[in-house]
Amino acid sequence: MSPELEHPQKAIGWAARVPCGVLSPFKFSRRATGDKDVKLKVLYCGICHTDIHNIRNDWGVTTFPVVPGHEIVGEVIEVGSGTEKTKVGDRVGMGCLIGSCGTCHSCLHHEENYCPDMVLTYGGRPYYDGSTTYGGYSDIMVVEERFTVLIPDSLPLAGAAPLLCAGITVYSPLRFHGLDKPGVHVGLVGLGGLGHVAVKFAKAMGARVTVISSSPEKREEALTRLGADSFLVSTDMSQIQAATGTLDGIIDTVSAVHSLLPLISLLKTRGKIIVVGAPDKPLQLPMLPMIFGAKGIYGSCVGGDEGDSRDDGLCSKTQHNNRHRISPYGLRQHGLGPPGQGRCQVSFRHRRREHPLVVASQHLSTFIVLLCRKTT
Ligand SMILES: [Zn+2]
Ligand SMILES: [Zn+2]
Repeated sequence: MSPELEHPQKAIGWAARVPCGVLSPFKFSRRATGDKDVKLKVLYCGICHTDIHNIRNDWGVTTFPVVPGHEIVGEVIEVGSGTEKTKVGDRVGMGCLIGSCGTCHSCLHHEENYCPDMVLTYGGRPYYDGSTTYGGYSDIMVVEERFTVLIPDSLPLAGAAPLLCAGITVYSPLRFHGLDKPGVHVGLVGLGGLGHVAVKFAKAMGARVTVISSSPEKREEALTRLGADSFLVSTDMSQIQAATGTLDGIIDTVSAVHSLLPLISLLKTRGKIIVVGAPDKPLQLPMLPMIFGAKGIYGSCVGGDEGDSRDDGLCSKTQHNNRHRISPYGLRQHGLGPPGQGRCQVSFRHRRREHPLVVASQHLSTFIVLLCRKTT
């Protein structure tokens, strides 16, 4: 059935039709707002690198047309009769998940993100009614209330969007692996979208933070702007050796193939590396230093309804939001639309001009037009 006629609520988004990285307007539909659903008007949507991977079919699994976007912030415009915490007018966010079975081991332990029947906000298996899922580069979302978070008034909406994927992706392993307290020394590898949010969370949790990067020019940003305690250049073996055995844990956000050996050497005995970046080729794991240091390596993927992640991570840390790394991309800024359409923004956390997301933003700027029309 045509995406426009599949459901009763009309929607419009920006879709990639082929893997060339270009988005264009796409009319589709959303399901009727069910008893436990909320419907929101999308106000901001972050650009996650996963969106870019999907648009380009980098992983070979994209089904076109794809409407990306899973760092979604909006205003509730309708609620079902069975909702419990949300009312019309609330500011809410939603992230990578829109469905899980609710009964498996993972779901019962607030780790819906590891549920074998989990449904992604877009780009994964169909929703339980068989329909294709479409993400937040669109005007409205309809989602089960349990997959939304309330956003406090003190948190700027644009700054909240990246917390819903990048934020929870680093927050969850910090919490789960006990790297969230004073007296703990955390290493953060990579100072991109994930890494800079991780620095702010870890500092807000009271940990001592060392940023590890292959880019010496990021030193000032790490120390001065983000408040890290120290900075190591990952390719400078003298710096690495001087810091040997100092870290309780490392969050590794790098998605390029890189050497784990220097990172392993930085760990204390029983230290652990938690990998949240996703290199497209296997990393070499030298076992001797792992064995002789009783060290561990883990993976971690976004986060679930971990209770405190909603109340603590997304709320009380508001003073540590990553507002300063949000670059607004507006219609008039790009000169692409007529004047007088009001203010419009999309959260955008990668600033380097050579970054592929910047290329994407040229296409996404039309998406911003859409948001602008719908929100003014
Ligand atoms: Zn993401
Ligand atoms: Zn489940």
